[in-house]
Amino acid sequence: MSEAPDTSQELSEVLEDLRRHLLWQEEDGGRFLQVDARLAAELRGAGLARLRAQTAKPAPSVAAQPAAAQPPPAERPMPPRAPPPEPERPLAARAPEPPPARREAPASRLLEVPAQPRPLAGPLPGVVEGERPTLDEIRRELGDCRRCKLCDGRKNIVFGSGNPRAELVFVGEGPGADEDAQGVPFVGAAGQLLTKMIEAMGYRRDDVYICNVVKCRPPNNRNPEPDEVAACEPFLRAQLQAVRPKAIVALGKFAAQTLLRDSTPITRMRGTWREYEGIKLMPTFHPAYLLRQPAEKKKAWEDLQQVMKFFGKQPGQRG
Ligand code: URA
Repeated sequence: MSEAPDTSQELSEVLEDLRRHLLWQEEDGGRFLQVDARLAAELRGAGLARLRAQTAKPAPSVAAQPAAAQPPPAERPMPPRAPPPEPERPLAARAPEPPPARREAPASRLLEVPAQPRPLAGPLPGVVEGERPTLDEIRRELGDCRRCKLCDGRKNIVFGSGNPRAELVFVGEGPGADEDAQGVPFVGAAGQLLTKMIEAMGYRRDDVYICNVVKCRPPNNRNPEPDEVAACEPFLRAQLQAVRPKAIVALGKFAAQTLLRDSTPITRMRGTWREYEGIKLMPTFHPAYLLRQPAEKKKAWEDLQQVMKFFGKQPGQRG
């Protein structure tokens, strides 16, 4: 069972998270909508018919589609972001880095929050209204993506891997160094833990489908920025529409908050069933966090057991 939370710590986490959420929105300054509108215009011209007409072209495989090798990333200035407010640094299993210089926004700017959240529904890449896309079509639509600055530093696009008809999908944050090198999600240390978690649930890794919110590695494993999430998220939504699993496990706060449009800290969101577009969604801790905080594995296991119960699975039972 969950331990009783430290109320003052939890309160400060919530306040910090609210502050970051406001910063997130303030920082974004409407770019989400601009990105969506640009993408929508681009994609309106694309459509499934064109995608299908392209099937003569060699299609990248769904599991790993390396893009052309890129030059090493130019160092980018960090966005204004407070220190991590909660036990979450999903892209870990990576070399420790010195903390970046942080720029604080004046408090008054925090009040300039857009009145309307981004709409959940919208045009999905490679999707024609009423038609279910295939992962290959979505991958082809993604192409050698240049929709955000993450393309500058990536070696490979990490689209997703696993069973295109999986009943269960795991969504992480974004590729790390190992994933970037191989073009496959969750193959580093955090990935090895995820594989153990999947197997403990009674699945093989290739029974499920695994993907991330952003498909390219953020430089120095920093958190993905709002414009990067906005550019990539339609592809994640399209992937989920293609696979149409019965349940999704959102690994860590980026996955949970992005899919659910909810800025609640993962410490409070985890362990409770939610719904994403009619699909059951279980938020839980990211395996990279669990590598740093092994005592929290117990809670993550409780979350996964709820997922197993939903599928009527016993630990270690296959099929
Ligand atoms: N962390 C993630 O969120 N995704 C990966 O693919 C690897 C590490």
